[in-house]
Amino acid sequence: MITEAHTLGKDDSLLVECQNGFRLLPEVCEAFKRMQAVAAQDGVDIQIVSSHRNFERQLQIWQNKWSGKATLLDASENKLDATTLSDIQKIQAILTWSALPGASRHHWGTDLDVYDKKSVEQHQHDFQLVCSEYDNGPCTQLNNWLNEHATQFGFSRPYAEYKGGIAREPWHLSFQASADKMLSLMDEQVLLANLIKSDILGLHSIIANMPDIYQRFVLNRGTK
Ligand SMILES: [Zn+2]
Repeated sequence: MITEAHTLGKDDSLLVECQNGFRLLPEVCEAFKRMQAVAAQDGVDIQIVSSHRNFERQLQIWQNKWSGKATLLDASENKLDATTLSDIQKIQAILTWSALPGASRHHWGTDLDVYDKKSVEQHQHDFQLVCSEYDNGPCTQLNNWLNEHATQFGFSRPYAEYKGGIAREPWHLSFQASADKMLSLMDEQVLLANLIKSDILGLHSIIANMPDIYQRFVLNRGTK
C-alpha cells in the first residue's frame, strides 16, 4: 500500500531494480520495458538517465544549489548569478529545475528521465540533458516518438510545457495511474513538517512562502 512516506521519498520498499541499477515501482518498470521494446523496433533506443531519488538525495541537491556549490539556471537554461538574488528569488530559481525535498515526482518510483542512448553515442554527443537535445539534436526522434506513443503505454509528460513553475523537461516521463495515486496523498502541511525536521537551508523563507511554492512549483500550476 502507498503511504505518505512513499510520496515523501522516505520509504523505498515498494521499488524494484528495473534496469542498470535504476529503480521503479514494478508496474512502472513493466510498462517501461514494453515501451522500450516497441520503440527499439522503430530505431529509438529509450534508456533511463534518472529514476528514483530519495528525500536525502533531493536535500543534498537543494543544499548544493542554495550554498552556491551547484549552478542556478533560469527556465531558459541561462546561468544566474546567485549573489544578486534575494532568498525568494533563489528559491524560485532552484525550484524551476529541482524539487523541494519531499516534493519530487522522482521520489515516487513512477517517474523517470529518458534519452536516446544509441543516437547520443552515434553523434558522439556530450549529453547534458538540455531541451535543445530533444528539440533539435540527438534525442529529437525520441521526443517525436514519445509524443506519438507514450500515452499508449500509460506514460504522460507532466513537464511538457513551461507554465511559470517547473521548467520544460521533455525527457521526464510519468506513469500516470500510479503517479496520480501518489499525488492524491501529498499534503502541504505534511511536506512542511518534514522540511522543518530537516536541516534544509533557507527554511525561514520556505516557510514564509510555502502556499505559493506549493501551488506554483509542487503542483506546477505555474503563474498562468
Ligand atoms: Zn525528471
